[in-house]
Amino acid sequence: MPTLPSHAKYAIIGAGIHGLSTSMHLAQKLAARGVTVGPGGTRIVVLDKTGIGAGASGIACGVVRNNYFQPAMRELMAHSVSVWESDADTYSYHPVGYMQISPEVMHAQVGTIYEQQKAIGYESVFVEGEAESMAYMKGLLSDWQARNITSVLHEKRGGYANNMASVRGLAAKARAAGVEIFEGVTVTGMRAAHGGGHIAALETSAGTLECDEIVVGVGPWINSIWTMLDLPKRIAIKGRDGRMNEGIPMWHYMALQEGTLGVDPDYQKTNDGAMPPVIHVDTDAPLHSDRDGALITDKLWGLYYKPDFHFGGVQGGAMPAPVERPADEVRVDPYGPKSPEFVVTDNFADMWTSALAFCQKRFEGQHGVYKKEPSGGIGCFTPDSFPVFDRFRENVYVIADSNHGYKMIGVGELVADELLGSPRALLSPFRFSRYAEGRLHPTSRSPFPWS
Ligand SMILES: Cc1cc2nc3c(=O)[nH]c(=O)nc-3n(C[C@H](O)[C@H](O)[C@H](O)COP(=O)(O)OP(=O)(O)OC[C@H]3O[C@@H](n4cnc5c(N)ncnc54)[C@H](O)[C@@H]3O)c2cc1C
Repeated sequence: MPTLPSHAKYAIIGAGIHGLSTSMHLAQKLAARGVTVGPGGTRIVVLDKTGIGAGASGIACGVVRNNYFQPAMRELMAHSVSVWESDADTYSYHPVGYMQISPEVMHAQVGTIYEQQKAIGYESVFVEGEAESMAYMKGLLSDWQARNITSVLHEKRGGYANNMASVRGLAAKARAAGVEIFEGVTVTGMRAAHGGGHIAALETSAGTLECDEIVVGVGPWINSIWTMLDLPKRIAIKGRDGRMNEGIPMWHYMALQEGTLGVDPDYQKTNDGAMPPVIHVDTDAPLHSDRDGALITDKLWGLYYKPDFHFGGVQGGAMPAPVERPADEVRVDPYGPKSPEFVVTDNFADMWTSALAFCQKRFEGQHGVYKKEPSGGIGCFTPDSFPVFDRFRENVYVIADSNHGYKMIGVGELVADELLGSPRALLSPFRFSRYAEGRLHPTSRSPFPWS
């Protein structure tokens, strides 16, 4: 068992993308002010019950995009993309771009995304019309054949990063800046200060750690830390009609469905031999099985994919599946592919490989090389599926990204500023009070809860 210090100015729970990014930026910003970080100076301690990248960050598909219907999300993502770009090698970031390929029902909304990307200087191309979309896609990938597509938004920035490589890169930079990372230490409780709301110490499997400021970046485990903080499990949300909706569960889980087609990643190159952008397709054309022709769905559906050497094939996913159980009854551990409950099933494999074949002829008849290995993992979502970045109990900063936040590597930079007393406007649309005040983000027509 590692030996913890008795006191740290900053205690960060979770060594995923957010805990590590926050710790690194905080250490760098303190150093820039002439503060010594580390033993003997200001101590920033990261605690993880398992290890670096043991949560969602270590299994994420790694897609980095700006394509969000909510203006506040787009601005936040543009900031995060600039952090990915700032050290692409260390973060193992591949700036191949990203494409949102959509049916008519989403055309107008995606058009507004394009307009607003122009307004914030985020480079993208917007193609409209069925024939024009087909021609654009065939110009990139000659075997393109997806139907019911009437627009293509091609983001020139963004792409994907390799999950464990980027968190290890962050951890190395954090350590170099004086951050201490303790692996195998579980936070088991919070000790409130006498007569005060703030938390004076963390109870851990390695003893008590007194601290001044706490940052929570525990991804899918947020519900258990929320319980330790004694925060409300049900909340009131003011709807768009001005009426209060009482008793809404604060957290719910969904199972992310992802897998890999075991082809050579080079199999998915563009017409001119380059690595293609990450492709995301939504469509309302019926989807039939590539195995036996059976109808899989005639409702709006979607998929995303990219060739990826780290996963050893063409990797991607589809819409998440709801976990029909109250958050307190969901077993988060063992997490990810080790879970006996929340790995993808053969239904996903059939759907996703058929969807690939629907999009590109080269994938027809390839379902047999789908990698039959456990994949996918659960995520913990807020009521509106958008993040909560806020301070609770006076000194506890919660980073709850609603499970689409691997791409949000820059949030740690913004949180570090807030910890040092400088509020950041990019974070203010994500305060907890938005639910009670009815300051909700607009909702899109995408079949994905996070778009
Ligand atoms: C299959 C899958 C694919 C995804 N793909 C994408 C994608 O392509 N793009 C994207 O942007 N997002 C994606 N996401 C979402 C993204 O992975 C998460 O939103 C993000 O990684 C969360 O980061 P985090 O740092 O908050 O938490 P995590 O990475 O989950 O890290 C939390 C850490 O906290 C530790 N911990 C938990 N409880 C305690 C405790 N009590 N004491 C000590 N330590 C504790 C855990 O061990 C863990 O290491 C995906 C998620 C999944 C599951």
